[in-house]
Amino acid sequence: MTVIRYPTALPPGPVLGAAPGVTECAEAYRAAGGYAATTAPDELLHHLAASGLRGRGGAGFPVAVKLRSVRELGERGGPGGRGRPAGGPVVVANGEEGEPGSVKDRWLLRARPHLVLDGLARAAAVTGAVRGYVYLSDPVAGARIRRALAEHEPGLPVEVVETPRTYVAGEETAAVRRIDGGPALPTAKPPRPYERGVGGAPTLVSNVETLARVALTAARPDLADRIARTTLVTLSGGAAAPVLTEVPYGVPLRTLAAAHGTPDAAGALMGGLFGGLVGAGDLGLPLDPDALAAAGTALGCGAVRFLAADACPVTAAAEAVDHLAAESARQCGVCVSGTAAVRDAVRALAAGTAGPGTAGNLERWSLALPGRGACGLLDAAAGIAGSLLRAFPGAVRGHLDAPCPACSATAAGHRLTVPVPPVADAPTTKPAGPRDSSAARADRIAPPKGTKP
Ligand code: SF4
Repeated sequence: MTVIRYPTALPPGPVLGAAPGVTECAEAYRAAGGYAATTAPDELLHHLAASGLRGRGGAGFPVAVKLRSVRELGERGGPGGRGRPAGGPVVVANGEEGEPGSVKDRWLLRARPHLVLDGLARAAAVTGAVRGYVYLSDPVAGARIRRALAEHEPGLPVEVVETPRTYVAGEETAAVRRIDGGPALPTAKPPRPYERGVGGAPTLVSNVETLARVALTAARPDLADRIARTTLVTLSGGAAAPVLTEVPYGVPLRTLAAAHGTPDAAGALMGGLFGGLVGAGDLGLPLDPDALAAAGTALGCGAVRFLAADACPVTAAAEAVDHLAAESARQCGVCVSGTAAVRDAVRALAAGTAGPGTAGNLERWSLALPGRGACGLLDAAAGIAGSLLRAFPGAVRGHLDAPCPACSATAAGHRLTVPVPPVADAPTTKPAGPRDSSAARADRIAPPKGTKP
């Protein structure tokens, strides 16, 4: 795994920072302007709304709208105003990263725990929350967050809650259920957590990268637009090593493919598994949530797996739906039968044993299944089936005629998972050396002289 910045002419990405390979301690974070009493909660909310910052967990919901909803429901005492819930609103930093191709959340918790905790505290100040949680499955990240909490008291009680890592454990209702002592499984919506979450209280469940961007916006409101329009991405696929980087919205997917080391990519699996497949003709699309959605795909959590020039898209689809079917939480009947049906059909295509009705079945399921499960897993499986038919019709036809040598040579399921980049532990009492370098100074987040604090 490599950590790169793109384009290299720009200063270090605001979240990736100047020293992405070392855990940032409290002293280094403070020295760079973190935890400063800069922007008041209402002013921060204004800047978040004006910049249009959206969540980085996958759904891309506007952050300011979510914060405002939790605050208003907290002030009214929950849905229907039936009295203020005990303890008021709750904030949750969601660091549970179930997408196998994404590493950014675990990297962030390991490398910049204080940036996440600062964002959590700022979100608590905006919503009026008096309690916080950091929800995660990565034990290394858990240890670094606990130590960060010991280094710096964030201004409200914060508890670390761990969960087994599954595809659905990071879904917001699954997080609430786990924090409340249950299994990390999604529940039917409504109510959503902002209405009734942890302990029945209005709850903000926010992805850790989102919270990092909230903290950065508080520290540098003058850079709010840039902070909102850059994003961490995990690039993988082909023979090149995976890459974690931070890029501005608008970078063409083809440019990212070249930066990753797959310049002749035949397409990509987008958004983790949530955005489905796109073909080579779509690699001119900009990495932008609206542009990608308009093209029928999704940015999701920012994980992009490029298909090498000689890769078989049917194999890629088979691996993805295999993973999803195995990860179904098996609590919605339509998900159990739907993901199994999609998996079996795509597997049959890959094996060259699909019947003449297979493509028609996949088309029908891709339209009928989305929205029928309690979470997005079923939608992802249906989306992969539909996108395979749309982006690679020739490959699908070819697999109906004869077994594909590329497919039969590939064992499914082992290429989706990307390792977290190494993040060295750092002393806790002194700023890490590299933060004092000129490169680190370029990344300082304290407002420049003359900027309104
Ligand atoms: S849609 Fe599938 S994965 Fe999601 S909650 Fe239902 S059974 Fe579980």
